[in-house]
Amino acid sequence: MLVGFGVLAARSTGRFDAAQPALPTFPVVPTGAPTPGSLSTPPPATEAPTAVASVAPTALQKPAAAKPTAAATRRATAATTPRPTSPPAASTRGGVTPTPSAAGGEPAMAAGAAATAAAAAPAAPTTSQGAATVGSVMLTFDAGADRGYAEDILDTLADEHVVASFGITGNWARANADLVRRMAADGHLVFNHTLDHRSFTGVSDSLGGLSAAARRAELDEADAIIAPLIGHSTRPFYRLPYGDDDPHVAADVAPDGYTRKIGWTVDSEGWRGLQSTDILARCMKLAASGAVYVFHVGRESQDGIALPQVIHGLREKGYGFKRVDS
Ligand SMILES: [Zn+2]
Repeated sequence: MLVGFGVLAARSTGRFDAAQPALPTFPVVPTGAPTPGSLSTPPPATEAPTAVASVAPTALQKPAAAKPTAAATRRATAATTPRPTSPPAASTRGGVTPTPSAAGGEPAMAAGAAATAAAAAPAAPTTSQGAATVGSVMLTFDAGADRGYAEDILDTLADEHVVASFGITGNWARANADLVRRMAADGHLVFNHTLDHRSFTGVSDSLGGLSAAARRAELDEADAIIAPLIGHSTRPFYRLPYGDDDPHVAADVAPDGYTRKIGWTVDSEGWRGLQSTDILARCMKLAASGAVYVFHVGRESQDGIALPQVIHGLREKGYGFKRVDS
């Protein structure tokens, strides 16, 4: 097993998002939000905020999503095998097993996820396989390393008529402008994941953390790159690199319009090298109304491979899909 090596390698090469080497020791989790260690347990229904935003169905959420297209089927089949150009993530990792506290790539953000989950409410019927709709879940994808499976993920979401949310770094947007434009064109939310994925606190990258001004600059500079591609600012939505948070972050970035911190309640752990079958099992086990899933588009994660089955599985459980801003 070489997980430790993989993490260190990723860290040293700056491929942060693909590996999410975060082993936070300073998770700031507001009361009521899932702690890193509790990520294996779906948030109690009682923790679901009551502030509810009505689900705004979009064309992409039509029941038509039920029938996978031939393309989707083909892709799903092909996706069962990692692309030859990239060895299975597990083969390049393994070894050191992260401590339980590392259960989430960016566990501290679970707090934000809980807040985001506030928008989760019983949704209009969006399932298509006969199951009763029991609620909605939100799929989020972080992009900060390579193009990875981004295109496959977008294809899958389109075929399945599922809307999702993408957290991208400014650097990734600059290198993959075509994909960022498509995310927006396909109806997905594109939110700010900073310019270069520097840890705001320094906990996960040991680079010393960032001043309040530098934190705002990380978001503003990313927005300057992303906004022209999606046609509008990413404000007010942002996600912290590694989920590294502290009591000052919110106040530091609010002045520049970033007031909606996006977190998650379910980490697929694809970034840790989980095989697609395990990612699927984990995502099914932790499914809950209002859940916010975090996946990564990077090649080192098999999240993109597991996605078709994850979507099908969630549908069978009766869940619909919506963006984190809905
Ligand atoms: Zn990230």
